[in-house]
Amino acid sequence: MLLQDFKSTAVHILPSYALYFAGFLEQRNINPRKDLFLRKAFVGAEPHTEETRQRIEEIYGIDVYNSYGLTEMNGPGVAFECEHKAGLHLWEDHFILEVIDPATGEPVPDGTPGEVVLTSLKREAMPILRYRTRDITHVIAEPCACGRTHRRLARFTGRSDDMLIVRGVNIFPTQIERVLMSLPQVGRNYVIILEGLDDMTVKVELAAAAFDGDVDKLQLLQDKLQEKLKAELWVRPKVDLVPPGSLPVAEGKAKRVIDKRSL
Ligand SMILES: [Zn+2]
Repeated sequence: MLLQDFKSTAVHILPSYALYFAGFLEQRNINPRKDLFLRKAFVGAEPHTEETRQRIEEIYGIDVYNSYGLTEMNGPGVAFECEHKAGLHLWEDHFILEVIDPATGEPVPDGTPGEVVLTSLKREAMPILRYRTRDITHVIAEPCACGRTHRRLARFTGRSDDMLIVRGVNIFPTQIERVLMSLPQVGRNYVIILEGLDDMTVKVELAAAAFDGDVDKLQLLQDKLQEKLKAELWVRPKVDLVPPGSLPVAEGKAKRVIDKRSL
């Protein structure tokens, strides 16, 4: 395998793929902590949670840093976390940042979530002015412990166009991910299905260790997940637990939501 042949110490990877890849290694009896040489990973290109970062760090025994970019700007080279892993420093010598209310287009104060709008300063052939990214986050105005003065963007909660409205409640898929990834019995993949008149089902893969055929335990876990999701979302979804590796894996960015509603 290339990672082993080249003794790679750092990777840049989609967080959903890092979790999927862990299953691939498991099937081949490759221990990611012992048999690979990885020390650091930069993850990004899809919204993900702190819980997912911690899970990737645990599986591989490495430091994982969040990164942000968009093809229209520089690809993955717009904002990166420093060693403190406390928000992404925007490269302000390359970009002018504005954060706006996506509904009104008006700027929001630091600390208030809004849509990131970027202007490129260094692109020559095709400058991009006040580009609406649809990505939702807020500015952390306080100085960072690392001493860098470039302002930080908080972890992205999602895109303004992937917010779901379920029974009148605004929900970001990352809210669901945060609940799922906080429980060790939950595996590496999930999908949110919306159908009928606002019925939400969350299909969740179990972790291999939790898949032991004990039906009572699974029922308890299902109830617990339902309660936790209700507390987070204010909507009670149906939870379906499925065997590890049984949900489809996307070729590129993870597709977490299937909306079949007939509204
Ligand atoms: Zn810093």
